[in-house]
This record gives sequence, structure tokens and C-alpha cells, in this order.
Amino acid sequence: MDLYVVLGLQHGASEPDIKRAYRRLARRFHPDINPGDRMAEARFRQILDAYETLMDPDRRSRYDSGGTADPRAPRVSGFEGFDFSARGVDYSASFGDLFAEVLSERGTSKTPGPERGADLHHTIQLSFDDAFAGVQRPLAVTRRETCRTCAGTGLTRVSAGPCPLCQGSGAVRSVRGHMVFSRSCQGCAGTGQQRPRPCEPCSGIGQETRSETVQVRMPAGVADGDRVRVTGKGNAGIRGGLPGDLFITVQVAPHDVFRREGDDLHMVLPVAIHEAALGARIDIPAPDGTARLRVPPGTQSGQRFRLRERGATSTRDGRRGDLVIEVRLMMPKLLDERSKELLREFGRINGENVRESVS
Ligand SMILES: [Zn+2]
Ligand SMILES: [Zn+2]
Repeated sequence: MDLYVVLGLQHGASEPDIKRAYRRLARRFHPDINPGDRMAEARFRQILDAYETLMDPDRRSRYDSGGTADPRAPRVSGFEGFDFSARGVDYSASFGDLFAEVLSERGTSKTPGPERGADLHHTIQLSFDDAFAGVQRPLAVTRRETCRTCAGTGLTRVSAGPCPLCQGSGAVRSVRGHMVFSRSCQGCAGTGQQRPRPCEPCSGIGQETRSETVQVRMPAGVADGDRVRVTGKGNAGIRGGLPGDLFITVQVAPHDVFRREGDDLHMVLPVAIHEAALGARIDIPAPDGTARLRVPPGTQSGQRFRLRERGATSTRDGRRGDLVIEVRLMMPKLLDERSKELLREFGRINGENVRESVS
């Protein structure tokens, strides 16, 4: 096989071109990122051979002038048997760089196993009432998913059958002058069988980007700043790893009347002076329906009443908080003479000093 074709290059490619092509291909076919994949291993061996030969000026000129690609004995062992340092070309530095690049890109150790997919983060805005009662919301999420074309294998399905390059023999013969060369077929890595190629829609990665509408259930009582987790709706895992999760940060719009503190709701209730003085039953439009508050006679402004379990539902244990009502006394507008006369008389009868505590 043509060494330039192996690297996807034109004849006469420059040294930087060769390096770049090698790095690009090695990142995809290096055995450390395709553990146990014999196809990738064989492909990487070809790439490495082509790279070494073309990067060595002597060997490259021999190859260009019609010599063999690699005069050494063909390798039969697995990739593990290689000793990079013992090879003829000094490419250790660039190889080390590449290695670091490959590993940091994948974020894994030298023998990467299954990798969990990344978590995704979204924000959702809710009205006060929706957050109080709980609500289901559709959320458009763009995620990395298993490629549908190759079912995540990164390879195209090929029909079983002999390799068309070597007609199933696993070896290719070439005649140069009176010499007949036979070498392991590069098209099938010597197996004689057709082998799968990288899946085109996903470039062999096994994943594709898809948009999906996720129905997100917001539990009753969800509060501003809460984070809701939807398990498994992050990016798909790599090499059989678990998918990541989808995290949704909740933003709850403020309410005109109710203010949430923990799971308690707080509100200020305007009360007329005669209601506060004589006592009254007052209907309160609580978020879950009308609540009745009994204001006892002699209630003062600023006094607080607590309606048990009429607050928000706790997302931790499902218990309800309280509704805390603070009374604010409201003065009537006193537009008529009769009301004023009554209050004057009221003042005469109740001569006590209301400022006793501050005088
Ligand atoms: Zn695919
Ligand atoms: Zn073949």
C-alpha cells in the first residue's frame, strides 16, 4: 500500500504535512484509545510505518525511488511488544507530545476504560404558582447520543466476505524486476476478511449530536435556586460508560403577596382597626386555596399568626411549611362627620396613654 495514501497525503508532501497527518490519524487509531480493537491496532501500525519511513530522509528517498517501504521483517506480534525507543527514527519527542495530547484530550489514564458522559446544565423559569404546585415542562436539550448509523461502534457494518484487495489470501504479492515480494495485506491486516471502516456520519466516534425534548417534572415546592437532576439525560457515555445527568437550575418569579423563607411563606395582611380591636375572621387567598384566619380582639399591628402546614412543600421530606401572616393595621379614610364624631367619643372614653412604654 502506498505510504502517502496511508497518511492521506499527496506525493511530495512536506515534513510538517506528514507530522500533521500522523498526529491526526494517531489520535483516532492509537491502540491506547482503542483498547482491544485489532482493526485500529493494525491500522495504527500502517500509519506508524508510513510515518517513520517518510520522516527518515534516507528511507523516504529509497521509497520514492521505488524501493520497499520497510526493509525489516514484518511484525507479527501484538502491539504490546513494541519498543518505541529502539526504533531507528528519532521521533520520540513528537511522539511524547502526541501521547500527552491524546491522553489529555480524552482525560483518561493510559488504558482508558468506559467513560461517563458529561453532565448538562440548563435553567428553567417558573411562576410562583407552578413552583408551589409542581409542574411538568418540556425542555429542548441538545445532547451527545449514541450514533444511530453504527449503534455506537464507530464502524460501518460490512458484509462478511473475502478482502477485495487480496482476494482473501491475506497477503499481497508484488513483482519488482525478477524479485517477487509478498507481504501482509494492508486492506485486511492479513486476515483475508473484509473489515469495517469508520462510520461516516460520526467519523468513527460512535456518537452524534441530537436535539431532544425532555419532559422535566418539577416537584411541588421547588424553590428559587434549586437544582433538579434528570438522571441519564446528559451526554451518552463513551466505550460503554454511563450517560451523564441533566441538571436544571430553577428560577422562580417573585409573588406580589407571598415571600418564601425556607418552606414557610410570609405575607402582610391589612386589617381594619375595628377588626383588630373587636376581633374578626378573615379569609386569606393562600396559594392552595382560601385559608381562614381568626384575628383575636385587641390584635396589634405587626403581630404575627402562623397557619400550620399552609406553606410550601419541602422537596426533601414532603412536609409542608407554615403560612406566616403579619398584621398591618389600616386607618379608615374618615370622610364623613359621623365617623369622626364616633372616634372623638372613643378617645374620650379610652383616655389611656398608648405611649406609656416610650415615655
Ligand atoms: Zn456512527
Ligand atoms: Zn486483504
